[in-house]
Amino acid sequence: MITRPYVVGNWKMNGTRSMLAEARAIDRAAERLIKVEVALAPPATLVHACRKEATLIGIGAQDCHPADGGAHTGDISAAMLKDAGAGFIIVGHSERRADHGESDALVKRKAEAALAAGMTVIVCVGETAAERDAGKAQAIVSKQLEGSLPASDSPAEQITVAYEPVWAIGTGNTATPADVGAMHGHIRAELERIYGEGGAQVRILYGGSVKPDNAAELLAVENVGGALVGGASLTAESFLGIIVAA
Ligand code: PGA
Repeated sequence: MITRPYVVGNWKMNGTRSMLAEARAIDRAAERLIKVEVALAPPATLVHACRKEATLIGIGAQDCHPADGGAHTGDISAAMLKDAGAGFIIVGHSERRADHGESDALVKRKAEAALAAGMTVIVCVGETAAERDAGKAQAIVSKQLEGSLPASDSPAEQITVAYEPVWAIGTGNTATPADVGAMHGHIRAELERIYGEGGAQVRILYGGSVKPDNAAELLAVENVGGALVGGASLTAESFLGIIVAA
């Protein structure tokens, strides 16, 4: 099955309404770049405004609470994000795992909440530098996939995995195409083990210092179905450079 590359911008904790012009510019350009599926995950405060601003690209959120609602001060449920205009939710980003101590089990509950609310989900995994140096990268990623992915009877086509080695995020260091190919092949095998035939349909994004000048090389690697882009998604100019390269 051939699908369009999926390029998702993760604005992290960046952006006020002054950045809506970037979302609008990305959306306008996406009209010409129909060979790529483009999406943006702004902070929750901008989901609604971005949805109104952009008519073509996907708009999503960076996290959700696993519960439907209730006494969880400051948290936001998947259904609320959908109501605000989100079509997908990123869960298990390494910054959330590190900053908020999110476990695989919690990430799994969040992923299932996103699916239950009728959205697609991007589940992030990735090893640290110490884990890679110890030769444990694949074992760590297997454990994260096993613990964080939605249950094996979930609709696999609604699930995307993002492989983001922690040491490559925001550092300017990218994994080599050979390392990316080896890890994405490993993830594909794990997905087929968990979801059976459906595992072949799960898109696997690479993330970690993707820039306009390295995107083409990374996206050409087997089993790389797109990119999750942080820093370089903050301006339309650099994000569009990646989309054109894809
Ligand atoms: P980066 O972030 O592109 O700034 O490295 C990627 C991510 O954390 O999703």
